[in-house]
Amino acid sequence: MYDENNIFAKIIRGEIPCKKVFEDDAVLFFYDISPKAKIHVLGIPKNPCIDYADFVLNYDDQIVSNFFKKTEHVINILGLRKDGYRIVSNSGVNGCQEVPHFHIHILGGEKLTL
Ligand code: 5GP
Repeated sequence: MYDENNIFAKIIRGEIPCKKVFEDDAVLFFYDISPKAKIHVLGIPKNPCIDYADFVLNYDDQIVSNFFKKTEHVINILGLRKDGYRIVSNSGVNGCQEVPHFHIHILGGEKLTL
């Protein structure tokens, strides 16, 4: 069951501020509050969804495709396309997911350690 009061739901509703990189009606990309790399941006669809499986299985292909195409747009805005980057999505207990709203981490701006 999706928790309407998770931190990212509050960020989407504007109840908690964030430093935005890109936003439209469907998606929001913003800087992680505790960066694990020189550039660390989080990307979320605005649809209520708990994790990766919830998002890709329960939403239309157009919505899923749009999210990942917007991710590529943001990678370009951040200037990461040329030198590379990492995309990560943690899911569930074993994935150490903290916030139960599907999100991707975009990490880059430096050579990443494993
Ligand atoms: P997870 O472990 O769920 O994949 O990642 C959650 C991420 O959300 C963490 O990297 C954490 O630093 C970030 N985070 C948690 N609370 C906030 C917040 O209030 N604002 C922002 N911008 N990031 C947050």
